[in-house]
Amino acid sequence: AASPGGSQVPRYIRVNTLKTCVDDVIDFFKRQGYSYLGKAASVEELRALSGKKFLLDLHLPELLVFPPQTDFHDNLLYTSGHIILQDKASCLPAFLLAPAAGSHVIDACAAPGNKTSHLAAILKNKGQIFAFDVDTKRLATMNTMLMRAGVTGFQLAQQDFLTVDPGDPRYSKVTYILLDPSCSGSGMVTRGLREEPAPSAQRLQALAGFQRKVLSHALSFPALRRLVYSTCSLHQEENEDVVRAVLQEHGSAFRLVTAFPSWPCRGLATFPGAESCLRASPADTLTHGFFVAVLERGGEEAAAPS
Ligand code: SAM
Repeated sequence: AASPGGSQVPRYIRVNTLKTCVDDVIDFFKRQGYSYLGKAASVEELRALSGKKFLLDLHLPELLVFPPQTDFHDNLLYTSGHIILQDKASCLPAFLLAPAAGSHVIDACAAPGNKTSHLAAILKNKGQIFAFDVDTKRLATMNTMLMRAGVTGFQLAQQDFLTVDPGDPRYSKVTYILLDPSCSGSGMVTRGLREEPAPSAQRLQALAGFQRKVLSHALSFPALRRLVYSTCSLHQEENEDVVRAVLQEHGSAFRLVTAFPSWPCRGLATFPGAESCLRASPADTLTHGFFVAVLERGGEEAAAPS
């Protein structure tokens, strides 16, 4: 079932650094009558937010935090693509993939594209993003969103990622992959809407089968160095179990690296090293329910954000 307590999750705003900077957005909201309280020191401070007050997030440098009921859909900064309304947990995958400017990146299941636009901001629009999705409607939304956000240097394809050929010379320089596949969505908070029933064991099994296939496929890209696997599911079957099975299948070619060492909530200890993964939830991190694993090709550890 969807997580309870969704109405307590703050409104997070990611500053789109392709168009503006954090200081200018803070000034804008101050002029709109909001009081800026500085950088939060704890999740408790985020929890205590109320009225027309806002904070800078303690974990993510370009994230502003407002009280839960704040609505910015009509705000000029939103309609002009200067800010992105994106839950904090959903900002973790691109942040932790941390592709270097100039690199080639695949966003394997990309629509509606919030993480793609975040990747482009991290790349400073320098490099190449290959984004795939199967859903035409979501791809249309994504195209509009990426234009509004000022994203350039991306190729958007309506294609099943499982049919994308890792041997195609177009992808020979792809060193980073973000994989955020379809999942049960059991971590999504509903903000007062009716809760979804829990997924059946059969549906979970089907989803996990797809997730294993798509993760294994992603790991077969020859130049890949780092991959982030994420879901908005709370189910071990779609998270730790998928990572464990695929790592086993690939022998010692890839390993888990500790995602965000200072993040308080870790992967379920279902196999040695599972704590390298991270989890998020309304109760513990004041976000949607989420899971992130960071995998790197065996050998030297690349620099990752702490
Ligand atoms: N990463 C997106 C974002 O941050 O906006 C959200 C992605 S959503 C969780 C999963 C997406 O995977 C859906 O848009 C779905 O259409 C797409 N999808 C499902 N099967 C796929 C496949 N075989 N190849 C590519 N995309 C697929």
